[in-house]
Amino acid sequence: MQLKIYNSLSAEKEIFTPINGNKVGMYVCGPTVYSNVHLGNVRTFMNFDFIYRSLKHLGYDVRYVRNITDAGHLTDDGDVNNDRFVKQSRLEKLEPMEIVQKYTVDFHKVLEKFNLLPPTIEPTATGHIIEQIELTKDLIEKGLAYESNGSVYFDVRAYNEKGGNYGELSKRNIDELFANTRDLDGQNEKKNPQDFALWKKASPEHIMKWISPWGEGFPGWHLECTAMSTKYLGEQFDIHGGGMDLKFPHHECEIAQGKGCNGVSPVKYWLHANMLTMNGQRMSKSTGNYILPQQLISGENDFFEKPFHPTVVRFNFLQAHYRSVLDISNEAMLASEKGFQRLMESLKVLNTVTLSGVEASSSFDLKEWKQKCYDALNDDFNSPILISHLFEAVSFIFKLKDGKESISSEDLEELKTLMNAFVFDVLGLQNIEENNNSKLDQTLQVLIELRNQARKAKNFELSDQIRDKLLEQGIELKDGREGTSYVLN
Ligand code: AMP
Ligand code: ZN
Repeated sequence: MQLKIYNSLSAEKEIFTPINGNKVGMYVCGPTVYSNVHLGNVRTFMNFDFIYRSLKHLGYDVRYVRNITDAGHLTDDGDVNNDRFVKQSRLEKLEPMEIVQKYTVDFHKVLEKFNLLPPTIEPTATGHIIEQIELTKDLIEKGLAYESNGSVYFDVRAYNEKGGNYGELSKRNIDELFANTRDLDGQNEKKNPQDFALWKKASPEHIMKWISPWGEGFPGWHLECTAMSTKYLGEQFDIHGGGMDLKFPHHECEIAQGKGCNGVSPVKYWLHANMLTMNGQRMSKSTGNYILPQQLISGENDFFEKPFHPTVVRFNFLQAHYRSVLDISNEAMLASEKGFQRLMESLKVLNTVTLSGVEASSSFDLKEWKQKCYDALNDDFNSPILISHLFEAVSFIFKLKDGKESISSEDLEELKTLMNAFVFDVLGLQNIEENNNSKLDQTLQVLIELRNQARKAKNFELSDQIRDKLLEQGIELKDGREGTSYVLN
């Protein structure tokens, strides 16, 4: 069983051989924290969470770096007023770093709801300004970047003349690009329109800026990822991931920067996750065609007929392969919910099933089934195929319960272990019933708060009623110096 991964660079499925034995370095471009993440963003991060979990399950020792983009020049149009953090801070009347904090917290909360594991390192762009300045200096020294009016640009033409291959990832013919855009040369501070900012000069009113050899400014977005990935994973590492839309120019530029600085291609396997669509259109903030995760979970939206638990959303997302487009719809969500419930029911049965001793013939070959599950995982992390195999086991489990199938006790134990591992560890699904405990906690906090309000308003009849009624249910409220707590009897 060898793991094969589709590499966007070669456009082929390749056998995965990590650079350093069993250790895997994986970098995934993180969010730009100037607004709430939408469900499309969640899909991409979830796909890489599934890949991370799969690698760990397959026995790899993974260092998983996912950054936070909390500064940086995000567009190539040269307009400093387009800094998204500054724009949003004006809109919300907050400091740019307050914007960063607010949406970083939101990002973490959202991902936790969907049961994503935290990365092992989560660096921020603002924490790596010095590294970015150093890389920029290095590229200038190597003749691959030039200063212009306080900004520094990567010289794509010089890079290609020195053996670089700008366009290799996105399969763009750079000579054609040059030929078609030559007449624009000289119209702005760049030598060529393809050149991209490594460092951008800040205007006096710009708030997020740092001192550099080229004056006050701020780093380019592409350079952030090169600085953080090479710092924590080395000049060359195994896996780099992100959404399909980041392939060009972002990842193309990362390759050019890495090769320019270190002479080696920075990444062995480039993985790109496909888009989440709604009404057949890519989900995106800028077009307004998006739904926030919380709107789907709470049911407060005009698109879905009912609320959906985050783990059902997760199940729905993983029913599509990470390289396929997924269109989110009410019908598909309802079907996923039913499928998820059946899966959970089968696990309940599996964990309590007793062998009847009646010899029924078995059509289920555990070894063969196990092989098929691992083949799916090893075939470019094929979650939908893995899930379809899990449902073969689900049918078998229900038949087992009805005495229509049989299994040896050793096989039964192995089936339990494997099903639980695939469902909870690899797919990262959660048992809703077990999680209802936290719902109970939230509900009790609400009741405690209402009781406090009643006491403040000297409505002791109501406050006592809340306490006594809860006690009848076996829930005892305890008033202490730190506030009120409860004990479940
Ligand atoms: P951003 O914060 O805009 O850099 O986006 C964070 C991640 O979400 C990137 O990897 C994007 O490629 C990804 N992304 C953006 N829109 C979608 C979408 N509609 N479906 C899936 N992934 C998306
Ligand atoms: Zn990136």
